[in-house]
Amino acid sequence: MGAIPDDFGSAQPLPIAGRSAEEWAMTHDTPLFVYDLDIVRARITALRAVLPGIDLHYAIKANPLPAMVAAVGSMVDGLDVASGGELAVALDMKPGQAISFAGPGKKDWELEAAIRAGATINLESPGECVRALAAGERLGITPRLAVRVNPDFELRGSGMKMGGRASPFGIDAAEAPGVVAMLRAAGADWRGWHIFAGSQSLDTAGIIETQAATVALAAQLSATVGATPPLVNLGGGFGIPYFSGDRGIDLPAIGGALASVLGERPEPLANTRFAIELGRYMVGECGVYLTRVIERKESRGETFLVVDGGMHHQLAASGNFGTVIKRNYPVAVATARAGAPSETVSVVGCLCTPLDRLADRVTLPIAGPGDVIAVFMAGAYGLSASPHGFLGHPVPAEVVANQPGQTPSASFLT
Ligand SMILES: *Cc1c(COP(=O)(O)O)cnc(C)c1O
Repeated sequence: MGAIPDDFGSAQPLPIAGRSAEEWAMTHDTPLFVYDLDIVRARITALRAVLPGIDLHYAIKANPLPAMVAAVGSMVDGLDVASGGELAVALDMKPGQAISFAGPGKKDWELEAAIRAGATINLESPGECVRALAAGERLGITPRLAVRVNPDFELRGSGMKMGGRASPFGIDAAEAPGVVAMLRAAGADWRGWHIFAGSQSLDTAGIIETQAATVALAAQLSATVGATPPLVNLGGGFGIPYFSGDRGIDLPAIGGALASVLGERPEPLANTRFAIELGRYMVGECGVYLTRVIERKESRGETFLVVDGGMHHQLAASGNFGTVIKRNYPVAVATARAGAPSETVSVVGCLCTPLDRLADRVTLPIAGPGDVIAVFMAGAYGLSASPHGFLGHPVPAEVVANQPGQTPSASFLT
């Protein structure tokens, strides 16, 4: 299985945001998610240190829990939303924050809500541009529009590729300048380019190469348009190490390379601001899913720990959210004592489907009913990306720990 993030240390029983798993389980019942904002703060501090002068945006689909949007929103320069629902959360939790709205298939009411809110709409197609201009006309408000470009390259090593092919995302690079000409002629406020080439890449050299290519493409498109874009959103795609053998990205190397690319940027971008948008890199490692063992069961020589949670809360850990091969997320017996003997077990959820396997034949300290299992890397694409209506179990609590003004390790039930 993958390595437990260093932030959690190696003490046993395992402390999570300053408390034991048993304390969390007693106060909130299991299963539950705990998000430690100290870990988010450390990630954002590290990003700021290597990306000076570059705006940081939080892509809230990674974890749209309102308390998380409020907390992370306070540490960044902008929020990226991908639906009218996310837009409403962003406006509720962080009024006044810069918002950009990407994603295909925006409905007219979503375009209108974005225009009313003063958000930047990242246009995904020429047709959407026409509809956004019409929406602005209806409202009597000048829309803020950026063009999302489908680049001719993709982010190497990326788990989800979003460029270099036919795509529902973004306007093909060859067509993009024409769309900008159209929206400028119509009197809209052109906010610049959005170029997002992929997600979850652990390939540092690939990220560096993609960022350089992105800046070059933005410069070339801007020259064709004959205007300076106020903002270029360079996308993100910074990955986190989920699995055995994964290694984290080299953030200082990425920051250094981007600084030199921007230091020598072509004239059309001389007065442009740059932004990077991230979801999982900011919040993925801060979250732990805690679930209690209900049964310990032997079958044909294998041992199963049957827990009270499962893929209906943490689909990604079961290998059913965008992965081809099932590999194990880092898991631990959070209630294990130091020096406990270990065994090979599978951790399975309580759903009546063989897909519901949180860890497949892993080595863990011997555990039984009442023990609490921690599934790490649960801060991004966890509950909101899982089918929690499936099988009718209750929705788990999500706790945001170490919020500003709280005493360390105090909790806040949302
Ligand atoms: C999902 C998404 C992100 C966030 O991706 P992560 O892998 O979580 O960093 C950023 N930008 C856009 C346009 C997205 O759709």
